[in-house]
Amino acid sequence: MERVLIVGVGFMGGSFASALRKHGYKGKIYGYDINPESIRKGEDLGIIDRGTTILYEAGEFNPDFVMLSSPVRTFPEIAKRLGEILDEEVIVTDQGSVKGSLVYELEDILGSKYVGGHPIAGTEKSGVEFSMSDLYEGKKVILTPTEKTDKERLEVVRRVWESVGGIVEYMDPFLHDYVFGVVSHLPHAVAFSLVDTLIRMSTKEVDLFKYPGGGFKDFTRIAKSDPVMWRDIFLANKENLLRSIDGFIESLNYLRKLVEEEKEEELTEFLNEVKTKRMEID
Ligand code: NAD
Repeated sequence: MERVLIVGVGFMGGSFASALRKHGYKGKIYGYDINPESIRKGEDLGIIDRGTTILYEAGEFNPDFVMLSSPVRTFPEIAKRLGEILDEEVIVTDQGSVKGSLVYELEDILGSKYVGGHPIAGTEKSGVEFSMSDLYEGKKVILTPTEKTDKERLEVVRRVWESVGGIVEYMDPFLHDYVFGVVSHLPHAVAFSLVDTLIRMSTKEVDLFKYPGGGFKDFTRIAKSDPVMWRDIFLANKENLLRSIDGFIESLNYLRKLVEEEKEEELTEFLNEVKTKRMEID
C-alpha cells in the first residue's frame, strides 16, 4: 500500500486514516467526499494529505487501496464510477455496517477487486473531527469473503486490519446481516423509538424530557447517532431488522402480559433469567 483513498472522510474514514498513521503507514492518504467541509477538516487536521469532492479526480490519485466509508447505500453508485477509473490491481474494501446482498452487488460491479468488511467499533459521533486513531484496537473486524473473493486481496485486507489492532473474523455476508440486525441494528432502532415514546407521551402538563435519569440517558446514547447513516443501515438490512423488531415485540408483549396479569413469580423468574444472561457478556 502506497496510496490509500478514503471514500467518505467522516468519523470512520478519518479513524481508519488516523489508525494507519499511528501504526506506521508512511504512504499517501487521499480523501473523497461529497461534502467540501469534510475534505477541508480532514486536510486541516492532517488526517488526509489531499482530498477532492470530484470522484474523477480521486481516480487520478491512482490509489492502490480504497476504503469505502460513506453511508452504505452510497456504495454501489460510487463503486460503479470508481470501477471505471481505478487500476486493475487495486483493492477496494469497506467499513459498511451492512453486508448481505450488498457484498454480491459490489462484487458484480468491482469483480475480485472487492473484499467486504465491517469493523465492530464505533461511537454515536459523526464527522472527521471525532476520528480516533485507537478505534480498532482489540475490536473485532468481520470480513465477508465469498467464493469469488480473491485470496491475495483478502489476505492483504486481513493484515491491514491486524496492523491497526483489529481482530479479524470471517463470516458469510448474509449471516453477518442476521447477527448484526439483532445485536446492533435492533438496539439502535429501539433507542430511537424509546426517545420517540417520550415525545409521544409528553403532555401539555408535563414535558417528560425534564426528568430523564441516568438509565434513560445510558440506554439512549446511541439515538444521538447520525440519522442518514442509520436510515441507510435500516433500509439496507430491512428483512433482518423487521425480524428483529418482531422478536422484540414478542418479548415486550410477554413482559406486558406478566405485568398485566400480575404474575409475580413468573415475572421475577423472567427478570432473573435475563439479568443472568446479560451479566455473562461483561
Ligand atoms: P459520518 O457521517 O461520520 O461520515 C460519513 C461521511 O460520508 C461524511 O463525511 C459524508 O459527507 C460522506 N458522504 C455521504 N455521502 C457520500 C457520497 N455519496 N460520496 C462520498 N461521501 C459521502 O459516518 P461514519 O460514522 O463515519 O459512518 C461511515 C460508515 O461506517 C457507514 O457505512 C457506517 O455503516 C459504517 N460504520 C459506522 C460505525 C459507527 O459507529 N459510526 C461503526 C461501524 C461501521
